[in-house]
Amino acid sequence: MIKPKLSKSTFIRGLQCEKSLYLYKHHYKLRDPISSSLQTTFDQGTNIGILAQELFPNGVDASPENHFKIVESVGKTLDYINNGESIIYEATFLYNDIISALDILVKENDGWKAYEVKSSTKVTDTYIKDATIQYYTIINSGIDIKDISIVHINNQYVKKGEIDINELFTIESVYDKVLEFLPRIPNEVKRLKNIIESPDTPQVDIGSHCSDPYDCDFKGTCWKHIPEYSVFDISNLNKKKKFDFYNQGIITLDQIDLDNTTLNSNQKLQVQSEIQGSVLIDKDQIRSFIGDLNYPLYFLDFETIRSPIPLFENSRPFQQIVFQYSVHIKKTPSSEIDHEEYLSNPDVDPRIGFVKKIIEDCGTEGDILVYNIGFERSKLVDLIEVFPQYSEKLENIINRLKDLMIPFKKKWYYKSEMKGSFSIKSVLPALTDNLSYDYLEIKEGGTASDTFLQMINKTFEGDEEIKRKQLLEYCKLDTEAMVEILKKLELVIN
Ligand code: SF4
Repeated sequence: MIKPKLSKSTFIRGLQCEKSLYLYKHHYKLRDPISSSLQTTFDQGTNIGILAQELFPNGVDASPENHFKIVESVGKTLDYINNGESIIYEATFLYNDIISALDILVKENDGWKAYEVKSSTKVTDTYIKDATIQYYTIINSGIDIKDISIVHINNQYVKKGEIDINELFTIESVYDKVLEFLPRIPNEVKRLKNIIESPDTPQVDIGSHCSDPYDCDFKGTCWKHIPEYSVFDISNLNKKKKFDFYNQGIITLDQIDLDNTTLNSNQKLQVQSEIQGSVLIDKDQIRSFIGDLNYPLYFLDFETIRSPIPLFENSRPFQQIVFQYSVHIKKTPSSEIDHEEYLSNPDVDPRIGFVKKIIEDCGTEGDILVYNIGFERSKLVDLIEVFPQYSEKLENIINRLKDLMIPFKKKWYYKSEMKGSFSIKSVLPALTDNLSYDYLEIKEGGTASDTFLQMINKTFEGDEEIKRKQLLEYCKLDTEAMVEILKKLELVIN
């Protein structure tokens, strides 16, 4: 059986990093496990590919029975072409040991045209390279391609009624750019084949290529020598400067010479705190922050989903859609805490129920603490756009938002345990061990979002009632954490 050496994806992998290509071919089992969010992205990509076929309906499908039988698709494609078919999905070609499957091949009046579908909102350099290797294999298989295009998502599309696929997708010809890159293909293919055939793993050190253009799935192997806390965790330090440290042999924070560094003052504080184990507390700033809070005090957190194909009326591709919140309420500084929450039914548009309940739960006065204000504010602004009849009440909520992240972002309170991060997941364990995400089944927002999306798409497997409880527990802990964090801030100034 013919076993092609390269595919479209291994070609792109090889362009990113020779070692990644080699490990993929010879040490596949070393790959890091696929995260659930990456799996969701893959699944969404597949769904987008299938939906885009409707742009060119009534085609024949050359897909293999399974991935291991992909070579059979080459014969199938050829048969379809010879039989006069004019629209072929997953048209697969093999040339020079490279196999590549094109999403849609269409014979129009002026000749064959190639369409590759991407669940992204723009054409990137990587997509051009990807299209070029496809073009190369197709034309060298004897098919004269008149044009090649990327079909991508139009992020300006707003769903009104049924999905209008002609509006949802944008077809962008990349023919000229493909022709520009094409002369490089034979040498690149030769180079990558030599790497695969080499007896030794290429010596490639870690670098910015490890996450450009994609997060490499061999980081678990190559980054083993980087400790859990390193120069790569210095907050707001750009990638280039992080690798400058690394390339000078500086990996841990205590190796940094603070007298001879271009780090900014906050970054120096982070390094100093690590070296000296010191806790930074700017009591005046914290006192002023707490003194400005108005009761009743609300602690609010949202969960959202996003999908390339808009799921609800008046929503856009990839727009974050609220489906859940938790709010803890403290009427006076000394009163007990109340709790309210919302989790939509996955069978309906979650937003209207969300709006009605949040207006009820958040009252009309008192400050509303959120953690990272930009997120909650922008979601409320989106809701005003869709439900203008609630604009006044939602604006009232927006005007009362305050950001509990500020004292940590500005390093008014910093402990080395926060490891340069001011996310709630880093701040909470540094301040208290009363609460922890470790015991929860759902531990982060990405999982919550993926879970709810699966429920909407009817792909969720398991007990939905149990999972809903876990979603509620997770979101509730986010706002409990905020209550706890404020308590700690109050303690340090007293
Ligand atoms: S982690 Fe980095 S160095 Fe290692 S294979 Fe991947 S891209 Fe190459």
